[in-house]
Amino acid sequence: MMKKFFIITALLLATLTSMAQERPKLVVGIAVDQMRWDYLYRYYDEYTEGGFKRLMNEGFNFENCMINYIPSVTAIGHTSLFTGSVPSIHGIAGNNYMLNGKYTYCCEDPDVTTVGSDTKAGMRSPRNLLTTTIGDELKTATSWKSKVIGVSFKDRAAIFPSGHTADAAYWFDGEKGCFITSTYYMNELPEWVKKYNKGIKKLTKDEIQYSPYGNEIVAELAKAVVLNEKLGRNNTTDMLTVSFSCTDIVGHKYGTHDAKTHEQYVELDKQLADLFGYLDQQVGKGQYLVFLSADHGAANSVQQNLDHKIPAGEFYGGEELKEMNKHLTTVFGKDIQYGIRIMDYKVVLNREAIRDAGLEECKVRKEIISYFKRNPQVMYAVDLEEVSSASIPSVIKEKIINGYNRERSGDIQLILKPGHLGAYKGIGYGTTHGLWNPYDCHLPFLLMGWGVKHGTSQRACHITDIAPTVCALIHIQMPNGCIGNPIDLP
Ligand code: ZN
Repeated sequence: MMKKFFIITALLLATLTSMAQERPKLVVGIAVDQMRWDYLYRYYDEYTEGGFKRLMNEGFNFENCMINYIPSVTAIGHTSLFTGSVPSIHGIAGNNYMLNGKYTYCCEDPDVTTVGSDTKAGMRSPRNLLTTTIGDELKTATSWKSKVIGVSFKDRAAIFPSGHTADAAYWFDGEKGCFITSTYYMNELPEWVKKYNKGIKKLTKDEIQYSPYGNEIVAELAKAVVLNEKLGRNNTTDMLTVSFSCTDIVGHKYGTHDAKTHEQYVELDKQLADLFGYLDQQVGKGQYLVFLSADHGAANSVQQNLDHKIPAGEFYGGEELKEMNKHLTTVFGKDIQYGIRIMDYKVVLNREAIRDAGLEECKVRKEIISYFKRNPQVMYAVDLEEVSSASIPSVIKEKIINGYNRERSGDIQLILKPGHLGAYKGIGYGTTHGLWNPYDCHLPFLLMGWGVKHGTSQRACHITDIAPTVCALIHIQMPNGCIGNPIDLP
């Protein structure tokens, strides 16, 4: 009897031990906001050994990872990275999109309030997200024993990556100069977060976000989360998501080739090296899995392209909308606001006004399409309900369909010619992103640490393959709206 008991105990122990070995202690998912793939090489010589170069030389580098939807913007990128899904399914159809007929900020939630300050910056939650994330699946796989926490400068870049079941998401309240959260997660900031906030330099929001300090306080907060929440030391696999936003904020204002953007990457590299060193020490080298990618890239500025004889142009959405409405008034003889806005290169129709004026919506749609087809900056104009029958290259067609959420996107998609981008007057050498082109969609994708051997690959993969690859590595189910596939690692 006793012997049998020992055998069973031994077997049980063996099972438990081998189970524990099937997953890393900690998964760290990093997004660098607006990081083009080619920034890995543009500044390579100036990177330290411990940051980007460590990921490249120690980890696995997928060199050909593309976004497979439009619009290529922040909220969607962060969501797709961690859900393996696309706006059509996960519902995050833009930084702002139409929700129940109202133009809505992606993660706004009137039912929650700010925790950590007295502003409205904390009225945020992941409620508009329709699918699960890697973190949600990890928690489900471990019967909610895992801790999952998201940190970022931007609210949406902390909230969507960490998901519905996250223990916490922290983002920066620029007005108050501190990290906050919302009542979706908790009713009071942990003591250690309050203490951390006291150490942040008293600077204006602009002084923080346009300098390397903005990313530094996110990297330091990530370290503080690991320490205080004992991530990787809770006897199960934990997850931390970190997004560095200030690369994007600086990139928009100064463009892809400015010294300020250059500085952001060289400094971020040091911050990453420091973070990896800290994880080596706290969790153990090889005991954690880290992956790094971006939410989107950025175009080289219109002005820079023109300076170098590359075709380019600025597209002013607000003005185009006004002109379109004027044209439709002439054609249909009714003075109404036919289009409400041009949102991420999509015309949003005022269906009610069109119906009340006794007009047929399909005729208005057709007229808008032929109107924009005459615009020299527009390459394609297509009805979002009829994309599959349009004569558009299949790569672009697929990106339009993947990005089209019937309830939340607009009605007519405009695809501009390469080098042409949405702008505001005076953007100069500044830039933006949002379309299908490689400059907006080609992302870094690197994995390092637990279960990862060194290597590189040029095989085509998509942002939606990142989550299932990570899930396959750590042996958990992929998120519930995932359309991607795990990529084989050697
Ligand atoms: Zn972004």
